[in-house]
Amino acid sequence: MKRREPWGGLRRLAMKNSPVFYLTYALQLAVVFCAYYFSAYWGLSLASVNTFAAPIWPPTGIALAAIYFGGFRLLPAIGVAAFIVNIVFGAPVIAAAGIGLGNSIEALLGVYLLRSLGFRPIFDRLRDSIGFIAVAVATPFVSAVIGPVMLGIAGTLRAADLPITSLTWWIGDVIGALIIGPFLLKWFARPIYMVRRSLAQWVENVAFFCALIFTCILVFWDPIPGIQDFTSPYLIFIPLTWGALRVGPRFMTIGVATVATLAISGTFMGLGPFSGSTGINEILYLQIFLATVAMISLLFTTTVEERKKATDSLKEHVVELEEDFEQISEDDKAKNEFIAILSHELRNPLAPVVSSLELLRLKVADGHEFKPLFNTMYEQVARMTRLLDDLLDMTRISRKKFTLQISRVRLQDVLMHSATTARDSIRKRNHTLTMNVPSDAIWVDADPLRLEQVFVNLLNNAAKYTNPGGTIMLLAMRLHNGVQVAIRDNGIGLPKDMLIAIFEPFRQVHAGESGTSGLGIGLSLSKRFIELHGGTIEAKSDGEGAGSEFVVWLPTVTDMLLTEARGRAAAAARPPPQPQAPAPPQHMWNLPKKSKRSILIVDDNEDAARAIAQLLNHSGHHARIAHDALSAFKELGEFRPDIIFLDIGLPGESGYDIARKLRHYLNPQPILVALTGYGQDDDKQRAIEAGFDFHLTKPVSIAELEKILAINA
Ligand code: ADP
Repeated sequence: MKRREPWGGLRRLAMKNSPVFYLTYALQLAVVFCAYYFSAYWGLSLASVNTFAAPIWPPTGIALAAIYFGGFRLLPAIGVAAFIVNIVFGAPVIAAAGIGLGNSIEALLGVYLLRSLGFRPIFDRLRDSIGFIAVAVATPFVSAVIGPVMLGIAGTLRAADLPITSLTWWIGDVIGALIIGPFLLKWFARPIYMVRRSLAQWVENVAFFCALIFTCILVFWDPIPGIQDFTSPYLIFIPLTWGALRVGPRFMTIGVATVATLAISGTFMGLGPFSGSTGINEILYLQIFLATVAMISLLFTTTVEERKKATDSLKEHVVELEEDFEQISEDDKAKNEFIAILSHELRNPLAPVVSSLELLRLKVADGHEFKPLFNTMYEQVARMTRLLDDLLDMTRISRKKFTLQISRVRLQDVLMHSATTARDSIRKRNHTLTMNVPSDAIWVDADPLRLEQVFVNLLNNAAKYTNPGGTIMLLAMRLHNGVQVAIRDNGIGLPKDMLIAIFEPFRQVHAGESGTSGLGIGLSLSKRFIELHGGTIEAKSDGEGAGSEFVVWLPTVTDMLLTEARGRAAAAARPPPQPQAPAPPQHMWNLPKKSKRSILIVDDNEDAARAIAQLLNHSGHHARIAHDALSAFKELGEFRPDIIFLDIGLPGESGYDIARKLRHYLNPQPILVALTGYGQDDDKQRAIEAGFDFHLTKPVSIAELEKILAINA
């Protein structure tokens, strides 16, 4: 937003060296002259110590403001006005000329100092008030010395009266600067048309002025005989404090001027606390009192204003931050959605590729020249699938759509399984894996698939980031309230400053180095999984080349620990849990046991359906395919499968609808398996509710199919 420039119109009109420019200059000189002259006249008319030493000298403030805004070219108006007014009050020409010069130098010096201090006339910073007070107190020394000395030289002032005259002169100038200066500076810097106040604020401003005037009259004008005995001049700090807190510097400058006017008028009418004999002391007291009021008000008001501004800008920043945060959250959400959809869409075409490759691998005999090619293709596609799975998991966790499938598992089984899964990558690089795991069962309440994912990732990383022929150790140790699993390698190690950062998503230290590949999400996913289990994971390394160690801590089942002996006996008696094998639902216990199964695959992706069917037929099962509800029911009219793999997103009736119908009409009941690209927890829940026994996420590996086929086989 473009800021409105004060007096912008006038400035544009008075272009340099134009007639308007000269006219404006002359006008400015005249205005400054008049303002200075008449205020000086009023000030000198109050003089009591010496005719030429005014107890309050508003011209100091007028001169400061005029030179500050109009420039040093207005100095002649000040010098001449001071000269003439002193002549009018009877000063000798030489003295009047000296006073004119002294007053001009005072204004020049004051403005020079203000500009050097970087003063801003808005008075919204404490430093401006402090700077202004310093200038208002220091510069009047010039005229308070030159003026009386010139009067002395001219013979109008006795040497003995010089100190008190100088003192009164100085304080008079200080008060003039402190009371009139801020008022003019503030109001000219931002003219009245720039003031923005609500109606409530205007009402409060009026109320403040009423209270101030009322208090001033009470204190300085003795409206009720004898009231002076009960009042004190310090009462005026009550409304002034209100003003400082609420009305802002602009109206406080008027407030202070009001106090000065009413205090001076009362005193010179012989009323109020500073009246009396109107001797030297009374005038000095009044001066000191007004200087104190002006200084405190200025400092207090600007402090409040500065804090208000700081709070406002803080609020603005908070709002901006909140907006930014909202935007970032939305972007993040959109990004997560995008990754989720992308991973899901990429998994669909992968499904038939994985199944077909698996089939080809099985069909091609060992030793065939294409066997290694198929193996490589299968491994690469399997790796792509894993990466997509990791990406999906990441987005699920970020979207808080992830829940663990907790069951009580023996950690040893998970570790053994992980080692078996990672065996290929360890062997490929000729590493030696040493395992040191306690033989006593260690029970944890955990999601076995996720735990395995963590340990496989750590073992694969150890294999990946260790030069061929390295040593990898998997050590498990029971601690008093948990278990610690360490995976140690003698590989390329990690810089110390990365030990925490590598758990952030997409953080990689060795990206692009030979033999390494990945997205940098494995460790961040592992950390989230472990934390979801209430555990911790940390990395240790003595630096590059010094090997690395990843330490996982997991809470163990405490009641088992407490009754360890019983636990051990129970563990020995129980067959070790099979974390990977899905437990068959109750209604399946009575199914006939067979090794060759009849299977119906319903999937509108014809390639995917055919690939799975071929794979299953190749393994000796009898598989048929259908591509929608109609053809599925047609198939079911002809044969009764033991197992039905049913895609969810089918044309016409969805897999859920078909499952419900099948549960209702078929007898005996087959095993119903949902086969879909949607792997969210709520998708699984919906599948179970629709009557499915299992839920498999595409692409399905042969191992997963085998687990289903093995039920009651
Ligand atoms: P990725 O291995 O896919 O890059 P990770 O999240 O599993 O992603 O690992 C993040 C980074 O941590 C890796 O890129 C690697 O620089 C470093 N790292 C992980 N494990 C080890 C290890 N055992 N030795 C040395 N560096 C490792």
